[in-house]
Amino acid sequence: MTQLKASLLIFLSFLALGLIVSNKFLPEAKAFQLEGCRQGSPTVYYYNGADSVESQYVPLAAESWNDMPAQVFLIPISSPTASSTNIIIQSVFVQGGVLAQISYTCVPPYFSGKTTIALNDWALGCNHTSPGCQDSIIQVIAHELGHALGLDHSTVNWSLMWPDNSNWQEYRIFVPVLDDAKGLAQWYGQNHDTSFASSSASGGSASGTTLPLTLQVTTPSSSSYAKVYSSTSLPSSQLAVMISQVSAQTLYRFNIAWRQGSGGPYVAEELDNDGAKLVYLSGTTPAVLILQTQRNQTSSQHIPALGALVWLEVVVEEVNGTQNSIGITAYEIAGGISPTYSGDCCPFVASLDTTIDNTGGGAGNFPPPNPWTSASSFEARVWTDSSSNPASNYQLSDFWNFQGDLCSKIC
Ligand SMILES: [Zn+2]
Repeated sequence: MTQLKASLLIFLSFLALGLIVSNKFLPEAKAFQLEGCRQGSPTVYYYNGADSVESQYVPLAAESWNDMPAQVFLIPISSPTASSTNIIIQSVFVQGGVLAQISYTCVPPYFSGKTTIALNDWALGCNHTSPGCQDSIIQVIAHELGHALGLDHSTVNWSLMWPDNSNWQEYRIFVPVLDDAKGLAQWYGQNHDTSFASSSASGGSASGTTLPLTLQVTTPSSSSYAKVYSSTSLPSSQLAVMISQVSAQTLYRFNIAWRQGSGGPYVAEELDNDGAKLVYLSGTTPAVLILQTQRNQTSSQHIPALGALVWLEVVVEEVNGTQNSIGITAYEIAGGISPTYSGDCCPFVASLDTTIDNTGGGAGNFPPPNPWTSASSFEARVWTDSSSNPASNYQLSDFWNFQGDLCSKIC
């Protein structure tokens, strides 16, 4: 069967505002939805035939899917007619039309023939050089590529595959997030990041080459810690995504962080029995922002349940096309990943969205010493505050770190 699927226009979403607002207060027993078909090979070739403006953003949108922990890869190809071409991306100009439209033929479980994505330059015809417009174009292309990979509209309203782009703005979703990643992993299988230089540790750091599974502090003392650490330099990049799944056996402090040489964490998301926080370096002093609860919590902070699975996701991007300002969106989601995903495993429990502005000063601006691209490594850590704490045992079921590497194309 041949399918047409269109993304909502911004102004159409205004018409549906009543429905959208009320929907946010429904229980979050929701999940990604799969199309009836997926691509037949993990290597998916796309032809970028969009116009001169929109085509700049196609590689970034494709990279955002490649960065997800699933075993599928979007690769550019130079011919729209080659037999190996799976996806054709083009620009159209339809006044009053939708943002974009995708068409494909589904012969379950695989797409048959080529999938075509039509980007409507009229609907995307904002000032193409404005940051908000760049975000919008990337969001729309990434969303349509999600369809082309076999994802239907999600019922999770903070996912990229949610059909209403006004939510993408509200939650600052530019790229696939956890719910989207789960859908992709269900279609194509999970992928694991293996770039960590160190493995599990007890009472301190230790070396190893396997995927980190457990972080332990076996002999608690003040500020003792265990960490997994990679010295891999972060590339000059517009976008970074870190995802981890943590099982807190003991309510100790856990964080994922970027570091600046030996200068300590540059930016870190922290989860402990006081709640979830964003910690960043302001001068030489760590500063803390409390993660405000938006979903499924009545208190102002989220306290993780002992032994519960918790997902942490941090998306960092340059704001206004400059390394002087970074935007951070942190998500905390309860629940686990499952190949047979069902039910309400993953309620959205907290998010933080803020901008750290290196250009200085003013309310809401938090000047770090250097742009985030100067971070030299990243790490995950669990630590104790005092010797009176019991031994910790955090399990890292999965830990992923991704950086876009397309600065030369869009910065
Ligand atoms: Zn859609």
